[in-house]
Amino acid sequence: MPARHCANDNHRRHVVTVRFCPSCGGMLNDTIAARSCPETNHAQMRRDRSTYCMHCGEQLVRPR
Ligand SMILES: [Zn+2]
Ligand SMILES: [Zn+2]
Repeated sequence: MPARHCANDNHRRHVVTVRFCPSCGGMLNDTIAARSCPETNHAQMRRDRSTYCMHCGEQLVRPR
């Protein structure tokens, strides 16, 4: 995946506790095991305005 500009603070942190960036979907910490999430988790993340799931990397908001 090419590097993209992303304003999410997680990219600047030394210790990241989530696997994927919720803004760009980029890998932040590949030592954290990928999880599969119930759809209720993704629904909550959409309400939190996340574009990607930070646990499984799934795209939550479909671009039109
Ligand atoms: Zn990002
Ligand atoms: Zn997920």
